[in-house]
Amino acid sequence: MLFRTRLSTTIIKGYVLGSSSFASKTRLQRLKFFDCHRNQILCGTFKRNMSGSKFEYVKKYELPDPLMLGTFIVFRLDGHSFHRFSDEHNFTKPNDKRALELMDHAAKALMEEYPDIILAFGESDEYSFLLRKSTSLYNRRQAKIVSTLTSLFTSNYVFHWPRYFPDTQLRYPPSFDGRIVLYPTEREIKDYFAWRQADTHINNLYNTTFWALVQQGGQTTTEAHATLRGTVSKDKNEILFSRFGINYNIIEPRYRKGSIFVRTEIPEELLSSQTQTQEEDSEKSPNLQLEEERRPELEESTGNSETTTKSSKKKKKKKKGKEPLTKLELLHRDIIKDDFWEEYPAILKE
Ligand SMILES: [Mg+2]
Repeated sequence: MLFRTRLSTTIIKGYVLGSSSFASKTRLQRLKFFDCHRNQILCGTFKRNMSGSKFEYVKKYELPDPLMLGTFIVFRLDGHSFHRFSDEHNFTKPNDKRALELMDHAAKALMEEYPDIILAFGESDEYSFLLRKSTSLYNRRQAKIVSTLTSLFTSNYVFHWPRYFPDTQLRYPPSFDGRIVLYPTEREIKDYFAWRQADTHINNLYNTTFWALVQQGGQTTTEAHATLRGTVSKDKNEILFSRFGINYNIIEPRYRKGSIFVRTEIPEELLSSQTQTQEEDSEKSPNLQLEEERRPELEESTGNSETTTKSSKKKKKKKKGKEPLTKLELLHRDIIKDDFWEEYPAILKE
């Protein structure tokens, strides 16, 4: 009898965790509950019935997809079929500044929402984001991170479209694919961003020369491709300069270098003086906007809402005191040489 009472209490406790209404009931009510559901509880079928569906077992087929701890996470998204998209929306060639600025806007919105993104690099229809090595965003679940970030970027792109293309209606909804690659050391991170910027340079030099041949040289696109076949950088620079008087090196850095967003901490002294200035003048510079860090919920609900709320509140309070305010800077500069990384050493910290 003693054994049964102890067993029943344990079982009931096990089954009712998460049910705050039941937790508040008295011991007598619990025992009554056990008596009513004795057979189900002892046979182990109670939980399935209580969950309200016999179909719930299908959830067991979901596989965990954690990203390895202690690695750098690079998330990259890329416009899907943007060749067609840019044609349909009459993007200017070789570069459409409005389209690039819209990409920057969506990238910045993502960084404002996710403080664990510390660096971003964008060119054409793609953007790469570096998350802090120590991030525990969504418990480092790959599908959750990729899908949420891709979706938020895309919705921002669509939402802000009219601001950059006031005279062009979206003809159909654009989409982006997203992926995550993990890198073990700082070396690969530096090389990754160098790779993307080198790609920017190669593509932009080709496109600039190609469209100069078409728009100013009167060649068809087929002829222009043929002219450029087998040429190296030096040849393209020569074509641009000798035939069209274009000095590639003075073309806008945005096109040659891509866009870099870097998150940096605001020194406390600067912060107090800026807060004072802001109180006097609420106008903010668009590229140097102070933003209070907003941290998305990292924990999944445990089913016990009271415990979750309390612990998140505690964590939030703790973090608020610790976390420095940061700002996002938009740069169009070299990221291949070491100068950039020496200037922003915090990027590769934990
Ligand atoms: Mg693409």
